[in-house]
Amino acid sequence: MGDPILRVRGLTSTFRTDAGVFPAVDDVSFDVAPGEVLGIVGESGSGKSVTALSILGLLPDPPGRVASGSIRFEGREIVGLPRKALQALRGPSIGMVFQEPMTSLNPVFRVGDQIMETIRAHEAISKADARKRAISLMDRVGIAAPERRLDDFPHQLSGGMRQRVMIAIALACSPRLLLADEPTTALDVTIQAQLLDLLRDIQRDTGMAVVIITHNMGVIAEFADRVLVMYAGRVAEQGAVDTVFTHPRHPYTVGLLRSTPRLDRDEARLTTIPGVLPQLSDTMPGCRFAPRCARRTDVCVLSKPPLLDVGAGQQAACFHWDAQQPGGAS
Ligand code: ADP
Ligand code: MG
Repeated sequence: MGDPILRVRGLTSTFRTDAGVFPAVDDVSFDVAPGEVLGIVGESGSGKSVTALSILGLLPDPPGRVASGSIRFEGREIVGLPRKALQALRGPSIGMVFQEPMTSLNPVFRVGDQIMETIRAHEAISKADARKRAISLMDRVGIAAPERRLDDFPHQLSGGMRQRVMIAIALACSPRLLLADEPTTALDVTIQAQLLDLLRDIQRDTGMAVVIITHNMGVIAEFADRVLVMYAGRVAEQGAVDTVFTHPRHPYTVGLLRSTPRLDRDEARLTTIPGVLPQLSDTMPGCRFAPRCARRTDVCVLSKPPLLDVGAGQQAACFHWDAQQPGGAS
């Protein structure tokens, strides 16, 4: 791969709590190539959003902060940039779409004005031109009769339509990287599929790089080129989607895949991963997945598994990555 558009190395982001300071993201590294779609997947609480917020400089500080590591966007270090410089990066360089409850559509402003506002915040163009651009963006994200919808308030739109508006806002400044954190999770499955199709079309048209965050392996299969599997703040596994889906090497990835509903599989055979994610404050010397892992041996409890190259650009943080999968899915 050429120079990555985004290069994250050893990212560690901590939260201060009454019980002490704990890493929500612990030594995470990955690259995103220009035009590539990277999926970040993991259970709720695994540190996906904290990773995204760290990149965007939006971690609530305090109690959160990027404690160590490096984040380079187009070669430029962005950890430690002043707030103003980070603000200037968000929008024209890095666009963002969040899960609906977190989205920032302002309920008291018309959606058209919010799109135009975004364009005009970063470009010196007339109101009339901004309006034309807003209409074409709304059209691009599949909003019918955009000239009329422009004057709607957010509450007049369905959840799916509001998320289309959020995508229009994210695209307004033609970002080179789009960070989408659970962009479809709050929506029903039909709308989810439509929005993922839309995002994929736009990604192909524009060639922008995308980081899509989800707890759903199905979304990864649909959309991503490469996948980063996170567990309890750490990278469990990463690699090309095809490779990881056919040869998952980390037992957590195996579990996630088994618990993903697929059209070609009988849902009754779906299994869930027994146990729960450790608390942030549960410090343990070994693998954070060990308490839930069928492959666990003494070494897993005693030492932290490094990310090992397991071939074909795939890496897994498991001492027993080459163990036969129970059930023969190896
Ligand atoms: P995900 O997006 O993967 O569901 P998050 O990145 O939101 O998970 O959270 C990772 C961890 O960070 C969680 O264990 C959560 O408790 C902790 N965390 C997130 N936000 C805060 C906060 N504002 N204060 C304290 N802890 C937080
Ligand atoms: Mg999240």
